[in-house]
Amino acid sequence: MHKKKGILSFLVIVSLFVFLGGAISQKSISNQDGHTSGHETDWYYFDWILKAPYVPTFQVLDTESSLGPYANKTKTITLKDLIKFHGHACDGLFTVAGALYVGFKHLYPDGVIDRTDTGVITNNSPCYGDVAAYLTGGRIRFGTQKIDKTLGNEFILYRFSTHEAVKVLLKPGVFPQAIVNLEEKVRSGKFTMTEMRELQKMQWEFAKSLVEHPLEEAFNIQVLDGFIWESDPYAHLGKRGDVVNKDILKSRERQNEYR
Ligand SMILES: [Zn+2]
Repeated sequence: MHKKKGILSFLVIVSLFVFLGGAISQKSISNQDGHTSGHETDWYYFDWILKAPYVPTFQVLDTESSLGPYANKTKTITLKDLIKFHGHACDGLFTVAGALYVGFKHLYPDGVIDRTDTGVITNNSPCYGDVAAYLTGGRIRFGTQKIDKTLGNEFILYRFSTHEAVKVLLKPGVFPQAIVNLEEKVRSGKFTMTEMRELQKMQWEFAKSLVEHPLEEAFNIQVLDGFIWESDPYAHLGKRGDVVNKDILKSRERQNEYR
């Protein structure tokens, strides 16, 4: 009888340790290096993004359905949306979002970005290309997104209807050389886990510094007069059906008639 009780107590204690161990390891995952705690579903986000004063948000205009027309309301895109799409909160995501925010102000002075009318060119960085596509609506398969490997921390925005183009550039010296050096080391494959963690920390510090100041302080903008948009060659180039008749409700009579 005593022996049975002993085994039972032992099993209870072991179960308790297993349960507690699981709970602790779950918590440590969500608390990695500044990730938010307490909101398990937002583990990929940072507390400092909520507090930073110059985190950009974007008002975008799209169509209502697959064959148009224009929607009569806009949507708000936040950094959180961009992080979910891209997969992680990296310095590249903050850089391109900041640059495009500055460029959009020039192309869309009313503050509404028309995602049926915008082209974008970045280098082939996964981070730059993803965010640029999401924010502009530009897509390689429609000939509205282009890759230019000669671009550095530079982004070209183009508005098809007005033929206006701007280039937004991260100001020289803004991106820390120490990050460039450590990135090179990690890319080479000869690095320690400590160095990889250190790099992440430095990249997030840089991202944080971008949104703690007015974004115009970090970027220069150039107007590209006479810019000609030429789509990149792509074997499966297609046409966006939703933009063909996007203007159909533009006249007031039609709006009254069909809205
Ligand atoms: Zn990234």
